[in-house]
Amino acid sequence: MALEPLVGLEVHVQLDTDSKMFCACSTQFGADPNSNVCPTCLGLPGSLPVPNRTAIEYVIRTAAALNCTVAERCRFARKNYFYPDLPKNFQISQYDEPLSYDGHIDLDVDGEQVRIRIRRAHLEEDTGKNIHLPSGSSLVEYNRCGIPLMEVVTEPDFTTAEQCREYLTQLRLILRAIGVSTANMEEGAMRAEPTVNLRDPETGEATPKVEIKNLNSIRAVFEAVQYEIERQRRAVAEGRENELFQQTRRWDESNGVTALMRRKETSDDYMYFPEPDLVPLEPEREWVESIYASCPELPAARCARFCEQYELPEYDARVLTESRELADYFEEACEVFAGPAKTVSNWVMGDLTSLLNEAGIEISASPVTCEGLAELLTLIEEDVISGKIAKDVLTKMFETGRRAREIIEEEGLEQISDTGELEAIIEQVIADNPGPADDFRAGKEKAIGFLIGQVMKATKGQANPGMVNEIMREKLG
Ligand SMILES: [Zn+2]
Repeated sequence: MALEPLVGLEVHVQLDTDSKMFCACSTQFGADPNSNVCPTCLGLPGSLPVPNRTAIEYVIRTAAALNCTVAERCRFARKNYFYPDLPKNFQISQYDEPLSYDGHIDLDVDGEQVRIRIRRAHLEEDTGKNIHLPSGSSLVEYNRCGIPLMEVVTEPDFTTAEQCREYLTQLRLILRAIGVSTANMEEGAMRAEPTVNLRDPETGEATPKVEIKNLNSIRAVFEAVQYEIERQRRAVAEGRENELFQQTRRWDESNGVTALMRRKETSDDYMYFPEPDLVPLEPEREWVESIYASCPELPAARCARFCEQYELPEYDARVLTESRELADYFEEACEVFAGPAKTVSNWVMGDLTSLLNEAGIEISASPVTCEGLAELLTLIEEDVISGKIAKDVLTKMFETGRRAREIIEEEGLEQISDTGELEAIIEQVIADNPGPADDFRAGKEKAIGFLIGQVMKATKGQANPGMVNEIMREKLG
């Protein structure tokens, strides 16, 4: 009987608030070491914590997006342990009374629908950072100490590494869409820790849980989970069950393996008890309901709607809904532009995105507004300019912030759609190129391409291609 994997994910998310969880210190990234600190986040005697309302709101927003229930009353708890980056010698967290619980997220993994249950989303504070120098001494940096952290814990419902990857991808998109975190794993704003074990589906017997740390990308989680499932399977198959005990392992990226860090602590080791310096939290129901009511459309739903409403290929819909700003931009441009949505999608994902990337600018700060892009696309639709010239116009719009019509008029880029003018140019091109003209008359369809190319060259790409084709055929016929 094949053993089935049971994988759960614990994700820590730094909440994107201006100030820390229990004091007024700034959360600014990259500030001078130990400049964003005060007696509270340094754990000095006599200092008292005051909870950050925005951080609580962000957890409730997440709870709404993940179909969780928000507790009517909950408490913070002290998690006691000693480590230099934790100056109080305890972390304020939540233990048996989380702020929200019992949610779920539905995933589409390679065409298969999977529901992952969310056990809880609670609030705590981040620790500082230890920096170990080559000389052997260590430095401690407390700017991160006390930054609001949300912990989102799933039930062990994942059975493959692919499902874990899709969950983290969707969770990251959701956290960004609801505006609670940058969710950037490379900067440590989102950190995932899987637990992996195996169960015999017949007897229900399971191997001890292994927790994996030190994962700083979705890909690392994918590879580590895949490796760990295989490692445990092999240990069982080869009778090495003694290697399977409750433990914490770290992911060794360069060797592609997990390695033992320590035997796992149990929650008893942390001597949790209710935080005596904070009163229980009782979020007002009206406030909670208003947050639930304002929960925006989530990326997966928006992606499905884009396919349906705008008849976009799934690839386009996925790319556009990866950021709320990009999706908003696309939708606003579609409202103004009367032509096909696929045209808007092509220009947003293609030329506009490469201009933004080159300049290192976010879509929200794009010098070309969605109205501006829609105007440009309308001018192509109306045959005022060709698609080729429109690319240059877009670049100029991007560089100068000017409108398409202004640039086209000023630089005389309008398409030549005057029949008389085009006829004269076409007659000249035929006279100058008797060989290809004869080839076409003799039945070589391809030869007309060359002649049309000559017309476009003579008009610097401004001739209306449809009209050139039509007149050329008439003249040659
Ligand atoms: Zn502080």
